[in-house]
Amino acid sequence: MVEMEEVAPKVFKIVEPKYKNNVYYIDDTKKIQIDASVDLDKPVDVLVLTHCHVDHILKAAAIKRKNPNCTIAASEEAAVHIKNMDEVTLVKEAGEDVERFRVDLVLDNGAKLFTGEYKLAVLKVPGHTSGDIALYDPAKQILFSGDCWLGGDSTGRWDLPTGNLRELKKSVDILKALKVKVLCTGHSY
Ligand SMILES: [Zn+2]
Repeated sequence: MVEMEEVAPKVFKIVEPKYKNNVYYIDDTKKIQIDASVDLDKPVDVLVLTHCHVDHILKAAAIKRKNPNCTIAASEEAAVHIKNMDEVTLVKEAGEDVERFRVDLVLDNGAKLFTGEYKLAVLKVPGHTSGDIALYDPAKQILFSGDCWLGGDSTGRWDLPTGNLRELKKSVDILKALKVKVLCTGHSY
């Protein structure tokens, strides 16, 4: 039984034990899961992958199998690396046997995802990988920052395939400029 912490109304945070990856589950009219290190065994209408790293995509295929109508959404760049399961995903390095799946919906900058009271806008935030995205609701002031910005001065790594420090700094500045009451990061370190 995984522990779920309600970090905002209807928004639950789950910490995956192996990679210390934070998964979020928005339990509103539509069920939106953000990142897939954990299969929560719950209904999922939309699974958003913030980027293609192994610890964020691990259980996507299992979630899709249990929820055949679930839409898996990610950036165009992430979709390509996921399709190829190439070195950018870090699957081999991690020694994980990640089941293949495909991204159903490509999210561009400015795309919107609505569920109940939440209106999430997609922000492209390259630098950790070339295809990172964040989700932001300006009315609720909630930000799902993935591995781009981990809070304070903490950022994701930029030394992995397609990482870029200059891009990352630009992306982190964009996120830091937002009004945020609830910051939902990809990891808590
Ligand atoms: Zn990552």
